[in-house]
Amino acid sequence: MKFSVFILLLGVLLGCSSAPAANNWATIHQAVQIGDSAQSIGSYTAGCLSGAVSLPPNGTGYQLMRPSRNRSYGHPDLIRFIESLAQTTHLQNWGVLLIGDLGQPRGGPTLSGHRSHQTGLDVDIWYLLSQQAEIRSLEFNERETWSAPSVLAAQSDAIDDSRWSPAHEKILEAAARRPDVDRIFVNPSVKRLLCTRKSGHDWLRKIRPWWGHDDHFHVRLKCPLNNKNCAGQEPLPVSDGCDASLAWWFSEEAKTPVPAAKKPEPPVLPALCDVVLKADSQTKSNPSHP
Ligand SMILES: [Zn+2]
Repeated sequence: MKFSVFILLLGVLLGCSSAPAANNWATIHQAVQIGDSAQSIGSYTAGCLSGAVSLPPNGTGYQLMRPSRNRSYGHPDLIRFIESLAQTTHLQNWGVLLIGDLGQPRGGPTLSGHRSHQTGLDVDIWYLLSQQAEIRSLEFNERETWSAPSVLAAQSDAIDDSRWSPAHEKILEAAARRPDVDRIFVNPSVKRLLCTRKSGHDWLRKIRPWWGHDDHFHVRLKCPLNNKNCAGQEPLPVSDGCDASLAWWFSEEAKTPVPAAKKPEPPVLPALCDVVLKADSQTKSNPSHP
């Protein structure tokens, strides 16, 4: 019996979880592809990614922020989505999208910042539409140190008009109208603003209120069609969400953090993710960009 197999069996016998530690995923710097096509495996909050590609730091209509974080990887469908949305924003003169985190080279749990983003189908896009970014490529230092400003007035639920623009509404609508987008997480105040202006539109269903998300919005794609091991999220409610469910987000209950009983357990990933984590990137195809 090989030593490694023995250790693995010993771990199983002792009841240890076979879930890889989060930091294993965070320390990997190369994507790997198992099989013929890219595959998102598992769920957004407990999964991984085979066949990731890295978003180039610059493209028409966008620039990638925080390049040192090793979170510029996504399913090829996500890369295409970002590039396509950025093309639209460029053509419509809505500004340059500043792209925050996608996922890690093989997906999986991150050490900080997100519970999701694990299957290469999530991306954070800043609300900041910098005029600097429209005329030049941002310096590495700027990408690392600029902060994403909140669109809320300090200590309140009110949108700060000096940081909000009609372009934001158009970008959110354009993103939500795309059939491959499952949902978009925004601050409840952003949802409320859209409801006052666009109520009744079907795409508004996809705009979902969530805590935080006042300095960026979070786009989540549906599971790609041929990704059999990808677990999607429950279907969206039928209504546009401009109702009592939205009012709840402004209640005391929603704003009072519930103290966690204990540190949450790390997610248990599908067994296939173990194969992705341990695969040798040297011997498999490792595409950089489609
Ligand atoms: Zn996010």
